[in-house]
Amino acid sequence: MRLHHDIHHQAYVNGLNKAELELEKARQNKNFDMISYWENQLAFNGSGHILHSVFWTIMTPPGAGGQPGMYTMEQINKSFGSFDGFLDQFKAAAAKVEGSGWAILVWNPAWGRLEVLTAEKHQNLTEWGSIPILPIDVWEHAYYLDYQNKRPDYINNFVNIINWNAVEERLLLAMKGETPITLENKS
Ligand code: MN
Repeated sequence: MRLHHDIHHQAYVNGLNKAELELEKARQNKNFDMISYWENQLAFNGSGHILHSVFWTIMTPPGAGGQPGMYTMEQINKSFGSFDGFLDQFKAAAAKVEGSGWAILVWNPAWGRLEVLTAEKHQNLTEWGSIPILPIDVWEHAYYLDYQNKRPDYINNFVNIINWNAVEERLLLAMKGETPITLENKS
């Protein structure tokens, strides 16, 4: 664990700092030739830094961990039916992650409940803990009817129809630690 903390976690911090500096350079030079690489580095190292930072804090010497707290138990019971149900799912999910990765008990503010999620590696190009503010859908279904394969044209037009008041509202809520996700009422 000491090696894990001092060497491996440090590498994520160094990598995150490097990615942020390189992205700053790219913006200044208006040269995004390496954008995929640095966005991947940002996600990989940022998620590594975030998840390890949490990982260290949720461990304790043997026998010192106590019992799950009142709210933890309440939410675990609501979300998994029972504590044993949660633990079984958590352990099974962790054991079955393919290759390197994590199993994580998460609070999903969109559903308002706990879930167990797994992550292969840990980034999939995103950073754990981040809150979406301004998403652009670049799945083919989002643009193919109007733009066929010309994704850059779709992106150029999309940025002209952004509702900046909504963005401001969502950002303010996120900065207060509140979820700015209002689900559409579909059944
Ligand atoms: Mn690790």
